[in-house]
Amino acid sequence: MPHAARRDAVRALLDAEGLDALLVTDLLDVRYLTGFTGSNAAVVVSRAGEDLLCTDGRYRLQAAAQCPDLPVVIDRPSAPAAAASVPTGAGLGYDSATLTVDGLAAVRDAAPGRRLRRAPGLVGRLRQVKDDGEVAAIRAACELADTALRALLDAGGLAPGRTEREVAGDLDDRMRRLGAAGPSFDTILAAGANSAVPHHAPTDAELCRGDLVKIDFGAELDGYHSDTTRTFCLGPAAGWQRELHALVDAAAGAGRAALGGGAGVREVDAAARTVIEKAGYGDEFPHGLGHGVGLAVHEPPWLARTGAGTVPAGAVVTVEPGVYLEGRGGVRIEDTLHVPAGGPAVPLTTLPRDLIEV
Ligand code: ZN
Ligand code: ZN
Repeated sequence: MPHAARRDAVRALLDAEGLDALLVTDLLDVRYLTGFTGSNAAVVVSRAGEDLLCTDGRYRLQAAAQCPDLPVVIDRPSAPAAAASVPTGAGLGYDSATLTVDGLAAVRDAAPGRRLRRAPGLVGRLRQVKDDGEVAAIRAACELADTALRALLDAGGLAPGRTEREVAGDLDDRMRRLGAAGPSFDTILAAGANSAVPHHAPTDAELCRGDLVKIDFGAELDGYHSDTTRTFCLGPAAGWQRELHALVDAAAGAGRAALGGGAGVREVDAAARTVIEKAGYGDEFPHGLGHGVGLAVHEPPWLARTGAGTVPAGAVVTVEPGVYLEGRGGVRIEDTLHVPAGGPAVPLTTLPRDLIEV
């Protein structure tokens, strides 16, 4: 099991941060460090190696089964109970991104005399670098989701007269039947002018011949996610639709080519954005180029103009440029890619990127 090794990696960070222990309250961080999947938990990782998981009575059996190598404390609220296990006087870091103001007050009350300090994103830093098992899990999620969309297309499921909501529900059902826990996020299915809305929610609008149809979807499998976007044309594409698709495809290719271990997140974003800006559509690409994918479907690193830092070797990220022409339609092409050490990025998504006319 990789969980003990991950907690050791946290211990190494604690040394560097001058902390004696870390109070972990983000449930995905808890899962990453322990394998525990319940809805209420906190974990302490300590330099002295006195790690523990705290959850409540609903999860007594589950915690014992999922975390046989870890002492489990049954108490709630869990974060204060976990904090109280740390010796008085110890420097205790907490995740200020997930512990609420009230939660922090409860921790102070339950664990007086500990030197509490903000320590946001420590586990998140480790989570950016995926091990082989995680890459395999994300690859399996990508293949499942893409298989579902292929089956939908083969069955004639993308057709004029169906509504956005029907097609999105059809795709979600197919992902579930193939073994997904569910969609990774609310499926975006946007036809015609709606495709120009980057995060359009499906409506009862019917698909029409001549529409661009943008489908952004993902599957959750074994806790890991996938994220794919493809844009189709219902019937033969008009010249402007073909040109728009070719432009976004070229930008996506430039983004993928710029991606590598150690690449600056702004530079990767710029590689794709420059292609779109040179074509005169810079204002019509209003979002970042991509994001990390793992236990969360959106997680660091953020590939964006406003991002900071680099893409670590071992990351899994999306590249998803889009151009959206208000009132007419939009195109986004998104792949999820693994960034191995010392090599080019490898797509985990499997669908062809050509403009498909259905
Ligand atoms: Zn997406
Ligand atoms: Zn995405």
